[in-house]
This record gives sequence, C-alpha cells and structure tokens, in this order.
Amino acid sequence: MPVPHATPALTRAAVTATITQYRAESRGPERLRLIVIGFFGLIGGPTLVAFRAMLALPGWLDMGSLLAGWVILVWSVTAVWKREQGLRRIYQLPCPHCGAPLLAPGAWSSKTPPADLAAALRTCPHCGAVAIAD
Ligand SMILES: [Zn+2]
Repeated sequence: MPVPHATPALTRAAVTATITQYRAESRGPERLRLIVIGFFGLIGGPTLVAFRAMLALPGWLDMGSLLAGWVILVWSVTAVWKREQGLRRIYQLPCPHCGAPLLAPGAWSSKTPPADLAAALRTCPHCGAVAIAD
C-alpha cells in the first residue's frame, strides 16, 4: 500500500545527471550518422536520375534509384525514432507519485521537458506533487 506523503525517491542531482546523460546519448554521433544516411538517401536517388544519361546507365534505374532513396530515407527516420524510444525506455524518470514519464516530450519538442520543470521546481508537472528531494 503506497504511503501518500512518502519522501520522494528522486534527488535533484540524480535527475539532472539522468537528463544530461540521456541528452548526450540522444544527440550523439549515432543519431547524426543515421540522419546523414537518410539525407544521402533523399538526395542520392534524384542525383542518380540527373546523371543517369551522362553515365549511360539503363532507364529503369530512374524509378529504382528514386525508390531506393526513399527506402533509405524511411529506414533512417525509423531507425532514429526507434533509437529515441529505446533511450527513453532506458533513461525514463517516472514520477514517484503518479508514474507519469518525466522525460517526454523529447528532444525535438519546443516545450520545456517535464524533467527540466521537475528538476527546477521539484514538483511533478503532471500531478503537482513534490517529486524530487533536495
Ligand atoms: Zn506526478
């Protein structure tokens, strides 16, 4: 049976360290590598179409190269999204009171992430309870 006013298990230092580590991994070189692959997929297909005649390649490569470029782009976006979901599973900070995820929304949102609000105010932005000890 949960105690209604138990001392929060999270400390400000631990929350800040988790946020910092999550952001470092989320925005690290692996994500950049996947984005660059997707970008080259996006421009690679049309570039091959533009230079196909100059390179004396068969005409069926036009549709094939465009399709391959889009497949690479979709794969890249999916890989970045899955990686982000995995990192959130690893570094997620659930509120000790309501269990709401504090890391969401992610790095691409323009809103202040709930974890930053919780670290600054010590309260959960979802339920308002004191979620972080000093
Ligand atoms: Zn809460």
